[in-house]
Amino acid sequence: MTIAIYAGSFDPITHGHLDIIKRSSSIFEKLIVGVYDRPEKHLLFSTEERVQMVQQAIAHLKNAKAQSYSGLTVDFAKNVGAQVMVRGLRMSSDFEREFEMAMMNKKLAPNLELVCFMASLQYQFLSSSLLKEVAQLGGCLEAMVPDHVAKALKEKFAP
Ligand code: ADP
Repeated sequence: MTIAIYAGSFDPITHGHLDIIKRSSSIFEKLIVGVYDRPEKHLLFSTEERVQMVQQAIAHLKNAKAQSYSGLTVDFAKNVGAQVMVRGLRMSSDFEREFEMAMMNKKLAPNLELVCFMASLQYQFLSSSLLKEVAQLGGCLEAMVPDHVAKALKEKFAP
């Protein structure tokens, strides 16, 4: 069975992430969405909130589940028995950083294969950080995040 991980902060999960999850879960037999639990990184949502939001968003996908992890992503992959690491690439913003990380991960875990999905056209410019700015300023989040995430963002920024 091919097990893949898709790791990130997911602060919060967007339709861009979900597009990658949907596409990769249709290829791999099992997909584990790894929610990075890194307390020193400044994040809006707690690890529990981020896992819960991902879990709710992927509940309809039978072969996908969310779980938190800390430490190296390659170690997380090893611990859950994954052979593949999935990443999503947006047009220009992601490539250099992803390439750098891929080279390092290959050194750390030579047997772990990286599979990159090109972000779909409608999500090329969607990022969690920009989304949070829009939410903070009261902008409409329709088509960017699932309803439960839009609600959670509104609550976070409620006066
Ligand atoms: P990190 O904090 O590690 O950047 P993210 O949760 O932002 O984690 O992203 C996790 C993965 O999802 C990365 O591979 C990132 O490039 C990808 N990603 C983020 N936003 C999108 C998007 N709109 N479309 C496709 N992939 C995306």
